[in-house]
Amino acid sequence: MTDIVVLGSTNMDLVAYVEKPPERGETVTGREFRTIPGGKGANQAIAAAHAGGTVSMIGAVGNDAFGARLRSTLDRSGVDTDHLRTVEAPSGTAHIVVDDEGGNAIVVVPGANGTVDHLAPGDEGLIASADTLLLQLEIPTAAVVAGARAARAHGVRTILTPAPARPLPPELLAATDLLIPNEHEAAVLTGRTDPREAARVLLDSVPEVVITLGAAGSLYAARDAQPLTVPAPRVTPVDSTGAGDTFVGALAVALGEHRPMREALAWAAAAAALSVRRTGASASMPCRSEIETQYA
Ligand code: ATP
Repeated sequence: MTDIVVLGSTNMDLVAYVEKPPERGETVTGREFRTIPGGKGANQAIAAAHAGGTVSMIGAVGNDAFGARLRSTLDRSGVDTDHLRTVEAPSGTAHIVVDDEGGNAIVVVPGANGTVDHLAPGDEGLIASADTLLLQLEIPTAAVVAGARAARAHGVRTILTPAPARPLPPELLAATDLLIPNEHEAAVLTGRTDPREAARVLLDSVPEVVITLGAAGSLYAARDAQPLTVPAPRVTPVDSTGAGDTFVGALAVALGEHRPMREALAWAAAAAALSVRRTGASASMPCRSEIETQYA
């Protein structure tokens, strides 16, 4: 069993489905509305738990109905929420308008996630007890840096998903073992649109990089090895929301089980491919037996 701690965000996604998105000042009638538990931190935690990891989540939800649902969604997935605080702030929300052409417009209000700007008592001990710490950028950078430093101090592998893309402080990169941007994030971080070139630039700051390439799979690069491209299984995509988070959660489990990198990337790609065949983010994350079947 891989012990994984996720330090990150929880959001309730409030999704309105419309034919055409409204212009400024316009009101349109939507076709459907859904509330979907998400946030990159919670998504990665659920993906890793479904993939067979022992997972704990550090973060915060609001003292409201969304917070209760976010917590129970994590609990039901088998994620330990003892270090998920309930705070006097609204839960994080993502207000999403999806149009009939599949385009979307999103406003994220961090709410409770914005209060996660430090490690609380006990958080460092939890991180120290883990094999791997998963980090993203939907909580204040100060906490992400504190988490990465704690992990480094205790010899815990740190995997950072640099999303949403923004410049990374050198002290965060210095404490990161594996950076996993998608193509867009890699380009924002390096100014290079070619993933191989972007990976080369990123290796100046971190020892290992995986750039996810959507349906084209992923590219792995390390300072002391030849780059490796691992394809994704061909599937008919239904909804790619959360594919990246599924990939990262499953990869963390596979690496914690000491699988070789090529095998771990293929296993993560199998998990992510299964998630794009189904709607929703957390609800679409496959369990271990499904991943094994797809991988075989
Ligand atoms: P998202 O934001 O949709 O969660 P992302 O932009 O962070 O995803 P991507 O590079 O699009 O990340 O996808 C992550 C991984 O998911 C890919 O490396 C691949 O393994 C898998 N994947 C994504 N789209 C597809 C697809 N159409 N078919 C098969 N696998 C896919």
